[in-house]
Amino acid sequence: MTDADQPTRVLIAGGGIAGLELLLALRVFAGSRVAITLLSSDAELAPRAMTVAEPFGRGGGRSFSWTDITRDQNAKLVIDRLVAVDTAATIVFTHGGRRVPYDILVLASGARRVAPLAGALTFASDDASGPGAPEALRAIVARVVAGDASSLAFALASPSTWPLPLYELALLTAHELREHGSDATIRLVTPEDRPLGLFGQAAADAVRPLLDAREVELMTGARPLGVLDGGLRVPDGFIDADHVVTLAAIEARTVPGLPVDRAGFIPVDLHGRVSGEPDVYAAGEATSFPLRQGGLACQQADAVAEAIAATCGAGNDPRPFRPVLRGRLLTSGAPLYLQSRPSGQSVASTRALWSPPAKVAGRFAGPYLATARPGRIASAPLAELVPTAAGSPPEDRDAISLALQLADAHARQGDAEGWLQALEAARALDPAAAMPRSAMEVRLP
Ligand SMILES: Cc1cc2nc3c(=O)[nH]c(=O)nc-3n(C[C@H](O)[C@H](O)[C@H](O)COP(=O)(O)OP(=O)(O)OC[C@H]3O[C@@H](n4cnc5c(N)ncnc54)[C@H](O)[C@@H]3O)c2cc1C
Repeated sequence: MTDADQPTRVLIAGGGIAGLELLLALRVFAGSRVAITLLSSDAELAPRAMTVAEPFGRGGGRSFSWTDITRDQNAKLVIDRLVAVDTAATIVFTHGGRRVPYDILVLASGARRVAPLAGALTFASDDASGPGAPEALRAIVARVVAGDASSLAFALASPSTWPLPLYELALLTAHELREHGSDATIRLVTPEDRPLGLFGQAAADAVRPLLDAREVELMTGARPLGVLDGGLRVPDGFIDADHVVTLAAIEARTVPGLPVDRAGFIPVDLHGRVSGEPDVYAAGEATSFPLRQGGLACQQADAVAEAIAATCGAGNDPRPFRPVLRGRLLTSGAPLYLQSRPSGQSVASTRALWSPPAKVAGRFAGPYLATARPGRIASAPLAELVPTAAGSPPEDRDAISLALQLADAHARQGDAEGWLQALEAARALDPAAAMPRSAMEVRLP
């Protein structure tokens, strides 16, 4: 607490999954030592993970009311949009003309989703006009079934894009088409060197047969450059495709008053602290960490919550962000659970690897959204089901390793911007850490 009687005023700006995990984790770690206000431009939390199932009538996204959640967690809700921060005066300014004071500010305002390949169907950009992406994909499937199109390419535009939804879309589309007796050519074109490469070898070995069984042709090491009439341009040539489907790229939503990296994202260290701003933290897609995924956003939020709790006198050894990748891959049959750590673990299984088996595996947000809001979230966080022997324990350098792994992936694709961004993010995570010479000396093709 800032003085003997007053709780620390924590302002969370952003109403996505990182904002939810922060709210829950702060309640667990700091209890009544913090007075939390959640500032969100949206009245509802709408996780995107299940939207890939929508085109195939297999359920879809569900929304949750922020009014209900904040009431439940004894937090104040402000529906408005943050437009600027005055860190000297510790005030944020909103679109609606509010001035909201804070003791600690956490940015969890996410990023913008934009179309990376003009001419492709993007799943799903923020500025899409016309029918939504699920509807547009349904229309493409109908065209193929009717015989008006015979080839599809599912293209991953960047090594930093969370790739899992593209594999889900390809697998579910292929299942749908094969069920209708279609022998259309379906390709998955990716700059990865193996399928879902971030998850390691076990994932690649488990995903390949799924693609083969649905006759999805896998083209790795191929970075899509653009869509032309009738196909997809890649460095080595041209891939025929009547339709190209891709995933949105991430673009920063800049917040005036805060430091940003070369792409406009907020640089943070391993505890989510914003460089040079002692009272400001950030978590999730708003940060410069180059891999943007809901589960990782939650893990960043947990590290921030522990760091804030420590400043409020609750606990004194906050754990840093040590990423564990968890993915529940929707297939037409049983989902495939994937888990990996940069320090070596790679597990794939049709049995759940965490419980509850939430698609966005937040330590507190997963159980909170999966069950009817457990009253005592502290006693029922997400449980790890992977036997410890299967993986090495998490290491403090895991986040840096993952950022450097992505820097390498960008370098291999000749993408200098992506390479520099990932290196910059690695440096921000721990400015004192020595970077491996190989990362700094890698030559772009
Ligand atoms: C199709 C698809 C499938 C996916 N599948 C998975 C999956 O299976 N598992 C997984 O872990 N991840 C998945 N992801 C990724 C995941 O959805 C994102 O990484 C995650 O939502 C990022 O969370 P966030 O809270 O950082 O940002 P967001 O979810 O973008 O939330 C930020 C929120 O902040 C609010 N906001 C924005 N600007 C302001 C402002 N100026 N002031 C106040 N509030 C503001 C808005 O309400 C916005 O919703 C998927 C993504 C897509 C697109």
